[in-house]
Amino acid sequence: MSAYVLPPPPATAVPVAGSDLLFPVRRVYCVGRNYAAHAREMGFSDREPPFFFCKPTDAIVPIREGTTAEIPYPACTTDFQHEIELVVAIGRRGSDIPVGEALDHVFGYAVGLDMTRRDLQIRMREQGRPWEIGKSFDGSALVGEIRAAAAIGHPERARIRVDVDGQTRQDSDIDQLIWNVAETIAHLSGWFELHPGDLVYTGTPAGVGPVQAGQTMIGVVEGLGELRVHVGAGLQNPTPSARP
Ligand code: MN
Repeated sequence: MSAYVLPPPPATAVPVAGSDLLFPVRRVYCVGRNYAAHAREMGFSDREPPFFFCKPTDAIVPIREGTTAEIPYPACTTDFQHEIELVVAIGRRGSDIPVGEALDHVFGYAVGLDMTRRDLQIRMREQGRPWEIGKSFDGSALVGEIRAAAAIGHPERARIRVDVDGQTRQDSDIDQLIWNVAETIAHLSGWFELHPGDLVYTGTPAGVGPVQAGQTMIGVVEGLGELRVHVGAGLQNPTPSARP
């Protein structure tokens, strides 16, 4: 057996609510434009099939219930935006999963924030380039404790909301998802074999907008707890145009 030439990177894990257990994270998938009103606010129709992008596992910031996470305002943006999302934690392997069996592959659910450098995402979109610099930067995938489906079931209706400094920005219900959890898993598993440890950010409702250094976000999905995040001072922060 060979030794590593460097220390292997630490494993990413998310706490499971009401236990000392951790959910080990394998991959992070995200759905684009999965609420009709948000698709319209981004300039698209609401009738497209779901599409997916990924974030690196080490972009995950797990947040314990009752604590406030501190994240830095990221570099290279002047438009750092919140996207409150229902996150699905996959517990069973599968590909080409039928809609009727999809929920059997769910371990549990959590509240998440898909943080976005919107100016960079839109610039990449306009240039037909990948979204990574807008979506997949360090600390861009915030997630709360995972509630096991064995304990809470599979929520179909639940208010989903995020407040910034006490002002409600996004306020909808997960029953407004264009592609619900089962349909999303069915689609996604056609493109990728899903494995235990995968997380799926299911998309955000309308009302996305910027958050500034010094502000506090509180994200909630009814029945799944609360995410509290304070945005700290910026990293080195050239305007996007300062880079080629
Ligand atoms: Mn999103």
